[in-house]
Amino acid sequence: MRKLTERKIVLASHNQGKLREIKEMLEPFGISVISAGELGFDEPEETEDTFAGNARIKAHYAAKKSGLPALSDDSGIEVDALDLQPGVYTADWAETPNGRDFTMAMTKVWDLLEAKNTPEPRTARFRSTLCLAWPDGEDRLFAGKAEGHLVWPMRGDKGFGFDPMFVPEGETLTFAEMEPARKKQLSHRTDAFNKMIASLRG
Ligand code: IMP
Repeated sequence: MRKLTERKIVLASHNQGKLREIKEMLEPFGISVISAGELGFDEPEETEDTFAGNARIKAHYAAKKSGLPALSDDSGIEVDALDLQPGVYTADWAETPNGRDFTMAMTKVWDLLEAKNTPEPRTARFRSTLCLAWPDGEDRLFAGKAEGHLVWPMRGDKGFGFDPMFVPEGETLTFAEMEPARKKQLSHRTDAFNKMIASLRG
């Protein structure tokens, strides 16, 4: 298994919430991090229909452009009663002509569940796939998840995206009500990240 020998990597994301979380995860490893946005890179189109496919697009694009290893995250929330939607299309459900509106996207999800009279708990999970890609075209994928259920109304103002309506398994607070350190212990991104660290350490 290839190891990460370089001390500097590019984070292939423009999502401020993800950048904050991933930078914090990498800090203890003494790897310096620069984001694709800071390098002036645009965002490649996510044309695949899987988390792994889109994670690979983002990581390879940033690795080729920068000449450095690049780490991307593709993630989303799957709602069981909605046939696992929005899934890979989670960010798309928030698109408006004026940018992303997650209050609108969360309202849409809850309204669909109400329309179907879905019994509670309305189970869902976050998924994250991390892709670490090197400029020579090699890559590694790591998948993580966080099981939980959806609540309404939205609660909390920490975190990002769908955090205000997601309560992880065994907890009472939403991801958006928790301290970031607690979300970090429970999150899908941490699950994937821990697999990456275990693999890179070999
Ligand atoms: P993408 O990976 O850029 O396609 O976007 C994934 C979307 O999933 C984000 O824009 C968020 O709305 C949502 N998402 C992914 N991870 C989280 C999380 O940790 N909390 C809340 N929402 C998330």
